[in-house]
Amino acid sequence: MKPAPFRYVRARSVTEALEWLAREPGAKVLAGGQSLVPLLNMRLTRPDVVVDINGLTAQLAGVREEGERIRIGALTRHYQLETDALLRDRCPLIPEAERLIGHPAVRSRGTIGGSLAHADPAAELPAVFRLLEGTAVARSRRGVREIPADRFFQGYFTTDLAPDELLTEVILPARRERQGGALCERAARHGDFAWVLAGAWVTLWEDGRIRTARLVWGGVSDRPVRLPDVEAELADRTLEAARQVLRDLVPRAVEPPDDVHASAAFRRRLATVLADQALVAAARRAEAIVPTKE
Ligand SMILES: Cc1cc2nc3c(=O)[nH]c(=O)nc-3n(C[C@H](O)[C@H](O)[C@H](O)COP(=O)(O)OP(=O)(O)OC[C@H]3O[C@@H](n4cnc5c(N)ncnc54)[C@H](O)[C@@H]3O)c2cc1C
Repeated sequence: MKPAPFRYVRARSVTEALEWLAREPGAKVLAGGQSLVPLLNMRLTRPDVVVDINGLTAQLAGVREEGERIRIGALTRHYQLETDALLRDRCPLIPEAERLIGHPAVRSRGTIGGSLAHADPAAELPAVFRLLEGTAVARSRRGVREIPADRFFQGYFTTDLAPDELLTEVILPARRERQGGALCERAARHGDFAWVLAGAWVTLWEDGRIRTARLVWGGVSDRPVRLPDVEAELADRTLEAARQVLRDLVPRAVEPPDDVHASAAFRRRLATVLADQALVAAARRAEAIVPTKE
């Protein structure tokens, strides 16, 4: 199929991109095109203007450390995030998530900004962004604002970004001592969108008990889901005790959808099993990140 006609604009600066977004409220940003182009081709979206930001890598791509935070430009591509040495050391859940996304061709074009802005509820990067309590930086001609992860996703393929806003940066906390994370998923084939994915981010006490544990699920709702009540029950427990709590509480706490890909009952079971696997892997990794002795 072919897209409905639209005006194509290749932005030469961030300012120019923001001017187009302000002038044309129905305009769409083109980043890697891995989600937008299929939607255009199927005429599920019919923008009058498409603003291509691929010429703005100097301003919008790259990974840098700033104190205890990692700042990732929105136009940084999946393959760059998969292999970035700083992320492997300081924010390893991102490279781990990248290895689960699509295929090499998808990862060579798709971007972190596009993945978050597209907001597929079964996508890996939105789940990791939510799990790590990241911040999205949005710019428009009206100014710059920071959107915390718990407000960013508003529903199926819907975010808090206004039509005139460009997502320019994603900020994530750098890993600290005794912290570890893991992401586990099941899909029909490697590279497909997951039926369900679960992530865990664990901080341990010195004696190995769980200090805090965060959990996230994808594919069980209209957006990445956290369960603060379940997380609160995991604190100060041994790993084995926490696993039992998970097995007891998660099946009652998640309400996954029933669709052609998987039944609600199967998804509920996966949500429990995958969260358990992620929690165990995250705790083992956290154990390995201990302070170096002087
Ligand atoms: C075959 C295939 C398999 C895939 N498998 C997976 C998978 O397993 N897991 C997964 O997570 N994803 C998967 N994807 C999607 C892929 O990760 C995309 O890269 C991603 O969803 C969108 O990123 P993009 O840069 O291509 O964005 P685009 O397609 O260019 O844009 C997507 C949407 O975001 C908006 N947008 C893009 N950038 C910005 C910005 N900076 N500011 C504001 N709005 C913006 C666009 O206007 C559009 O609405 C797959 C895609 C394909 C084609």
